Amino acid sequence: MTKEYWIGDVNSGSHDNSEVELKGWVYRARGSNKIWFMVLRDSTGTVQCVIKRDAVGEENFESLRNALIESSVIIRGIASPTDREHGHEIQVTSGEVVGPVNPDRPFPITESAMAESDGGETEFLLDHRHLYLRTGRMTTMLKLRSTVFGAIHSYFRDRDFIEYQAPNFVAGAVEGGSTLFEVPYFGRKAYLTQSWQLYAEAAMPALERLYTMAPSFRAEKSRTRRHLTEFWHAEMEIAWASNSEVMEHGEGVVRHIARTLLDERSDELTSLERDLDLIASYADSEYPRMRYDEAIEILQGKGVEVEWGQDLDYSKEKILTADFEVPHFLTHYPRVAKPFYHRPDPDDSKYVLCHDLLAPEGYGEIIGGGERTWSEAEILERIKEENAPMEAYEFYVDVRRYGGVPHGGFGLGVDRVCTWLAGAEHIREAIPFPRDSRRVTP
Ligand code: ATP
Ligand code: MG
Repeated sequence: MTKEYWIGDVNSGSHDNSEVELKGWVYRARGSNKIWFMVLRDSTGTVQCVIKRDAVGEENFESLRNALIESSVIIRGIASPTDREHGHEIQVTSGEVVGPVNPDRPFPITESAMAESDGGETEFLLDHRHLYLRTGRMTTMLKLRSTVFGAIHSYFRDRDFIEYQAPNFVAGAVEGGSTLFEVPYFGRKAYLTQSWQLYAEAAMPALERLYTMAPSFRAEKSRTRRHLTEFWHAEMEIAWASNSEVMEHGEGVVRHIARTLLDERSDELTSLERDLDLIASYADSEYPRMRYDEAIEILQGKGVEVEWGQDLDYSKEKILTADFEVPHFLTHYPRVAKPFYHRPDPDDSKYVLCHDLLAPEGYGEIIGGGERTWSEAEILERIKEENAPMEAYEFYVDVRRYGGVPHGGFGLGVDRVCTWLAGAEHIREAIPFPRDSRRVTP
């Protein structure tokens, strides 16, 4: 049953005037009882197949003509260039239906359902997500997403980072208790991990440069355009590094992702109406760094109600980033705005040595990271300050008790990066089966 011929190759002219056997799904069909035009789809593209009753015979013609949208079929014929620019057609010699669609239950995602959709966002399309995956826009998103995942792995592996896995069942919070998912655990309570970080820090003295790409779970109650309850988190941790060196890797990986997309997926970016020069500027530019205090001033200058000491939520990031041409780092947040593991700035302990990377075009935060509190005395003080439960963090303190060293890292929201670079409106568009507070199906 191996597949030898791909529609993408037919369209690029590799099989001109020779016989091919295409395997795929009916994308569209129309015609008369003498000639039938079937647009066939596979994972590499679509091509029109011209089926003439005279050429294929009575039986073949009738069975192909009755194949409804999304029936799977095998089509044999001669590939030929057409007058239309870059166009190709198949002059069909024979064909058969493999998986027919029952006329009583036609493919539910019709062109009119798509026209209403706004990027796949209607409840109807979310309910039919398993079928929506095979539509053009979603297929393109999934390809971009795969390239983004590949680029992240290659960035870290090419720089001698070791891929390292942490448990998903954990006993304590990383990002604050309000977004913890509680799971019954044999008479006790466990939680789904919000981040790989604390366990990465334990391996930092062993591996020194480590990374992962794995799901993180956060019980985000409010539904926003950029929060999922299960998202893909690319995280890194590096020993002997300052906030600034960690930022260099954050900038490095995002620029590498943009460059890889341009190299491997420029057709897909164009089909999503993305401006390739804009993506190239994300790949080639340096990302400016701005202190939190400066951002607060800019926001206040725009009349936004915001006080020093508040974390910046999306409404504020959106305003701030609307004027940015490339991603910007915000550094040195107030200590009161950030969790206990952030290292206070030795020059002024009102601040912590941290950074968020904000994507332009109003997208906002895609990376959060910084230097970690690394001495035993300081971490004990910070845990106490936050009233965090000590037992869950015993292991974390131990890492400092035995040869603590300066270190840091970041977490990058992979789905957010895909959303931004694809120019999508909503994070749900960038993941095959989005999870939020209202939806765990399909
Ligand atoms: P936000 O303030 O936007 O909720 P955060 O500050 O809680 O994000 P971090 O804890 O810094 O996020 O996590 C690191 C990165 O993981 C973020 O920069 C973001 O890209 C991504 N991320 C965090 N929460 C989510 C989520 N619920 N859905 C998708 N991505 C997320
Ligand atoms: Mg953050």
